[in-house]
Amino acid sequence: MQRTITLHIEPNDRLVKTIEMTNLATNDILKAGFENRIVNKLKLHHLTYYPLRKKYPDIPASIVTTARDNASEMLKREKLKRLSTKRKWSAIRYNQRTFTPELGKGFVTLASTNKRVNVPIKIPNYFRKYLGWKVVSAKLSYTGRKLVLGIVVEERTPSVRPPNTIIGVDTGIINHAVFSNNNFYRSSNIRKVKGQNQYLRRRLQAKGTRSAKRKLKQLSGREKRFMVDVNHQIANWILSQPFDAVALEKLGIRREKRLGRSFNGKLGNWAFGQLQRFIEYKAEGQGKAIIYIDARYTSQKCSRCGDIRKSNRNGLVYKCKACAFELHADLDAARNIASLGKAEAGRLSVNQPIVASSVSEHSVSPQLQASSFRAG
Ligand SMILES: [Zn+2]
Repeated sequence: MQRTITLHIEPNDRLVKTIEMTNLATNDILKAGFENRIVNKLKLHHLTYYPLRKKYPDIPASIVTTARDNASEMLKREKLKRLSTKRKWSAIRYNQRTFTPELGKGFVTLASTNKRVNVPIKIPNYFRKYLGWKVVSAKLSYTGRKLVLGIVVEERTPSVRPPNTIIGVDTGIINHAVFSNNNFYRSSNIRKVKGQNQYLRRRLQAKGTRSAKRKLKQLSGREKRFMVDVNHQIANWILSQPFDAVALEKLGIRREKRLGRSFNGKLGNWAFGQLQRFIEYKAEGQGKAIIYIDARYTSQKCSRCGDIRKSNRNGLVYKCKACAFELHADLDAARNIASLGKAEAGRLSVNQPIVASSVSEHSVSPQLQASSFRAG
């Protein structure tokens, strides 16, 4: 987020002259660029730098450079369709090389056609809250009576902490969502509602009357609202857990294959996508990270030894042929998603330790532990 602190300062001959000269130079660059059909910064530089230094020896090289960047952007904006120009006292730009802010000490220094100018400033109370922000750049213009200095500041983003603990989420049919910390969101209620609706839908479709069509519409609206509610609950629950990051599967890679035919309807995909959007949105509000992983093979892979074998999975049971590890199949997938998320987070921040989340290895009967979380 950026803000501009606007200050009115007493006119200073050197700065007024700098504005005027810089705008003349900018107009020269604009004209050269327009006539030669050049908008690129580097090419504009080759075309104009030395002639400008010769023509305006008093303008510091670093101001010529910012004028050229400004001209390049203006040319791009107009797409070379017409030649735009700067007015005599239009705002000119200052950057870190041409401007030193000492906001805390009550002055700034600005490059000019004749050395640096030290300008005392007084920051009004309503701008004081930005004093801790990072100063990015400044612009200076002249009204004919006052100089106007706009100091552009940017909110310092809190340093991004690598996630220490990551929760993995697997979304399926039998358990709508399964979490790597041994929790299950049971979708029996979802399936019940959907089953009832499907029955009603068929009957209404068979009728085909106008009132049946209206009822069909109401039905799909009700079903959507129900899923919205469920997804909010799941997303809230995930983000209430003590984890820094949530690992989710990139949708569209595996989803279609794993959803059975009966659930492959529009609502199924829509609901899973919505759940992810809710998690994303709520995570952002809490400063938690989302890590997307490629979920291929997560349902065939052993979360203990890494063995990948289709035959390890048999319905709801995952039994590893390599290490004999046994676990609820969706929980195994959720743990794989969590560890892929950890690997991904490790790649993003190699210097920081990523501590494994405390998943227990002996929960072959996760249903018993899942009672803590049941909604809908
Ligand atoms: Zn294994």
